[in-house]
Amino acid sequence: MNVSIVGTGYVGLVSGVCLAEMGHDVTCVDIDQTKVDKINQGSPPIYEAGLGELLNKNIHQGLKATTDLRAAVLETELSIIAVGTPFDGKEIDLRFIETVASQIGTVLKEKADYHVVVVKSTVVPGTTDTVVLPILETASGKKAGESFGVGMNPEFLKEGEAIKDFMAPDRIVLGGLDAKTLSVLRTLYQVFEGVDKLETNCKNDEMIKYTANSLLATMISFSNEIGNLCALTGDVDAAEVMKGVHLDKRLTPILANRERIVPSFTTYLEAGCGFGGSCFPKDVKALKAYGEKRQSPMPLLGAVLDVNASQPFKMIELVNKHFSSLEGVRVAVLGLAFKPGTDDIRESPAIPVTQELLKLGAIVNAYDPIAQHEAQQVLGNEGIQYADTLATAITDAQAILIMTRWSEFRQIPKLIGQQDTQPVVIDGRRMLNKSSVANYDGIGL
Ligand code: NAD
Repeated sequence: MNVSIVGTGYVGLVSGVCLAEMGHDVTCVDIDQTKVDKINQGSPPIYEAGLGELLNKNIHQGLKATTDLRAAVLETELSIIAVGTPFDGKEIDLRFIETVASQIGTVLKEKADYHVVVVKSTVVPGTTDTVVLPILETASGKKAGESFGVGMNPEFLKEGEAIKDFMAPDRIVLGGLDAKTLSVLRTLYQVFEGVDKLETNCKNDEMIKYTANSLLATMISFSNEIGNLCALTGDVDAAEVMKGVHLDKRLTPILANRERIVPSFTTYLEAGCGFGGSCFPKDVKALKAYGEKRQSPMPLLGAVLDVNASQPFKMIELVNKHFSSLEGVRVAVLGLAFKPGTDDIRESPAIPVTQELLKLGAIVNAYDPIAQHEAQQVLGNEGIQYADTLATAITDAQAILIMTRWSEFRQIPKLIGQQDTQPVVIDGRRMLNKSSVANYDGIGL
């Protein structure tokens, strides 16, 4: 099938590369010429495990990138919209979606064949039917369902595991205005045999995505609230408490042979220094705003956001416990990406924590195996150094703050074991054994 994907960010590029790998002919469209050039050279503009190999294998073998949206729409039978949908401070910002819908609509004016337009971006319920569809009709002067189709297909990939998630999805959720649109979408995904596919209306599709993300964010903030209470209780450790909670067989079912299944969602039921990224924060905010606009206040989601906004600063409270002042204290901030396996620093808890440390006069040595360059664009160079290796970052540090669960950080006990003075290690992800270093502290402890 000939497919165009508009927006080649984390979702668009991964989707494009994977659909090409599955045998489709894919044209990735972006307004960013640098990104397009890099993709055409086989060099991914973002970091995602396995993306480089797959891109290299497929580029110019059924996969290409361009800034020419018109040509891409004319040459393909299906266009997938995967541009960003940020939160503008009050509600979801549909500016990029509206622009792309209008641009595609203008091309449809000159296209005789039936073309399907599918929204993959995360959008609030009603966006596909009441924003995208009318824009396409106005710009094309044609009628949806007659001359072109409109559909919705939310994306559930996780950054850091995006290729795996796309190639072996847990579900494919589809919605379409008419039978023809649904049939095109079924053909697109027919290569994903055996995967649960849910066909429903576009509004349900849109709501499914927000509900799924809000549930996971709620589990994280719930665990963090419990963790904060544990920390103040004395002789209570949130990590132990959550281990006991996970043993509930409704969370981790026991098979007949007594083997226990540990679903990955239990990782969302652990205390830490907060969630970040380009999805959870903005999606929870957008859903809350959407509910309020429809006279359905969402106090629970408000609390999820409040807990999360203050959670990174628990790291500052913890480091403050160990020093009378942070003026001149050498602090290693480890992990700048919002999670391991990505270079995405959007809403990463490491950013406000580093800024606060600098404000308090600490001398910061920051390190991330992948996201260093991206973080440097935001944090600058004033009062902060960027280490090339983990070992350099922690040399001479008086305090070490673990902000991201990169597996490389498991070497910290071994590395500091060789040092003369022992820094305090403040574990924002509770990933180290607390007796593995001389001076350990962490969230929920
Ligand atoms: P992103 O910011 O990484 O990428 C968006 C891309 O769209 C950019 O490359 C930008 O240059 C391009 N773009 C903007 N306007 C354009 C235009 N007019 N024409 C062509 N290209 C244009 O965004 P993302 O993280 O990939 O997210 C995209 C959507 O997918 C969002 O709605 C997001 O909520 C959703 N989503 C993201 C993830 C994730 O993990 N990042 C997961 C699931 C869903």
